[in-house]
Amino acid sequence: MFEGGIRLVTLRETEEFGRALGRIASPGDVICLDGELGAGKTTITQAIAKGLEVPEACYVTSPSFSILHEYPGRIPLYHMDFYRLTDCAEVEDLGFEEYFYMSGLTVIEWSQKAAALLPAERLSLFITIGVGDERIIHCTHLTEGWMRKTINILNL
Ligand code: ADP
Ligand code: MG
Repeated sequence: MFEGGIRLVTLRETEEFGRALGRIASPGDVICLDGELGAGKTTITQAIAKGLEVPEACYVTSPSFSILHEYPGRIPLYHMDFYRLTDCAEVEDLGFEEYFYMSGLTVIEWSQKAAALLPAERLSLFITIGVGDERIIHCTHLTEGWMRKTINILNL
C-alpha cells in the first residue's frame, strides 16, 4: 500500500520507475512532479522520456528557461517547468492548458505553482529526499484511471 510512499534507494531505481511511467503513458495523460530542488523531478522526466522512446539525441533538460519543451516519442512529450512562474495567470496567458488535452503526455515540474489549472484527471507525485540517494515518492493525487494503469508500478 502507499502509506509511506515508494522508496527508491538508488538513482537506477528512480530511472526504472520513470521508464515504467513512460511505457504506460497514453495520449492526453498528465503527470505532475513536485518536490524541492534536486529532488529528482527532471531525472524522472528524463526516464519517462526513455520509456516513451524519445530518441537519445533529444536529450531532455530542465526547461526552466523556456517553460515548455516538446519531444518526439512513441507519443509526444510536453515537458513543462513552472519554477519561474509566479501565478496561474501566466500559464493561462501562455496557453499551456491546451497541451493537457493534446495527443501527448504532459509532465509538469513544480505543478503546484498553477494548482488551480491542473486537470482533475492526472497523476501527481511529490518527491522527498531521504538519506543519501534515497528518494520517496508520495502519490498526492490519483484518479481511478491512473490507479488501474499504475497498479504494478505504485504497488497499490
Ligand atoms: P529537480 O528537477 O527535482 O530539481 P534533478 O532531477 O535535476 O532534480 O536533480 C536530482 C539530482 O539528484 C540529480 O543530480 C541526480 O543524479 C541525483 N540523484 C541521486 N540519487 C537520485 C535518485 N535516487 N533519484 C533521483 N535523483 C537522484
Ligand atoms: Mg528540474
